[in-house]
Amino acid sequence: MRSLIDVTDLSTQELYEMMDTAIDISSHPEKYVKKCKNKTLATLFYEPSTRTRLSFEAAMLELGGNVLGFSEANSSSAAKGESFADTAKVVSCYADIIATRSPKEGSAFVMANNATIPVINAGDGGHCHPTQTLADLLTIYKEKGRLDHLTIGVCGDLKYGRTVHSLIGAMSRYENIKFVMISPLELSIPDYIKNDILIPNHMDYKEVYSLEESISELDVLYMTRIQRERFEDKDEYERLKNSYVLDLPKMDLAKKDMIVLHPLPRVNEISVKVDDDPRACYFKQCLNGKHMRMALILKLLEEASNNPVREKLITKDVVYNQYKCTNPVCISQTEQELDHISALDSKNKYRCIYCDKEVNQ
Ligand code: ASP
Repeated sequence: MRSLIDVTDLSTQELYEMMDTAIDISSHPEKYVKKCKNKTLATLFYEPSTRTRLSFEAAMLELGGNVLGFSEANSSSAAKGESFADTAKVVSCYADIIATRSPKEGSAFVMANNATIPVINAGDGGHCHPTQTLADLLTIYKEKGRLDHLTIGVCGDLKYGRTVHSLIGAMSRYENIKFVMISPLELSIPDYIKNDILIPNHMDYKEVYSLEESISELDVLYMTRIQRERFEDKDEYERLKNSYVLDLPKMDLAKKDMIVLHPLPRVNEISVKVDDDPRACYFKQCLNGKHMRMALILKLLEEASNNPVREKLITKDVVYNQYKCTNPVCISQTEQELDHISALDSKNKYRCIYCDKEVNQ
């Protein structure tokens, strides 16, 4: 039995197979209407969501399964102080698979380590969001016909934007990918993404400020929202919130076959006038997300029925309780009696196994 915490938990071969399944689902939905009969998905959402939760629920319903869950922490026992570990053990008695989102980085990992059913990370704080990446990959694959030999611009909040972190992890495994990271200095990509993904994989990347100056070289432009809810300093958010707006004059500078992606919700970083441009693919991305989530549910449930024993989640060399993570939104700060676990990165720095932030040494 396997869970999905990080997109690289799936091999590239598995991703191609899932994309084939998703494409088949979209052309022959009738073949899949009973595939999950008598199976139940629990959506445990401690943080707001429109697309991810509803597309998971639509995915399970279209597979003939059932759905239960909650959409805010206040309507669950989390409000009474229940731990993620206990919630995972309890929900394992009522459902066959869990999709969970929370503002705590590493919360899905803790749930997967305690559940007796597969757990899908539907977003853990600013850390990662692997199922958004499944939607992104299918969209790139369908629109560009390939996942390699691409120059990808990621623009906006690269610090807190978990979808960007997962996308970079996924793309690190394809040939000849170049990243152009477009952000204000304050919102640049975290060091752990550089030290653990970009540098060891010898990926070509540059960090720039101007969208206008870089848009013409891009095959894919991935716009993101400035993540208001993750700022400790609200004045900083106010100062940075309008950093980028993709509008028609900027689209004129782009390649004729560039595609525009956005995990949504958009606040104001893409003008609605861009929506009618054939290069705007962000609403197609939502539909692709549902089909990929269907493929994922099918895959994880099949694996769980073939082998109900939980796969080991920690595959690296780690040290227990030697260093403490100080990231205020890491699950290790609040979860009862959780071991502090860290592992060395490519720069010989210890990082927390739950949230990937560097620990104090
Ligand atoms: N929906 C995406 C997420 O949950 C993007 C965003 O919220 O800006 O991370």
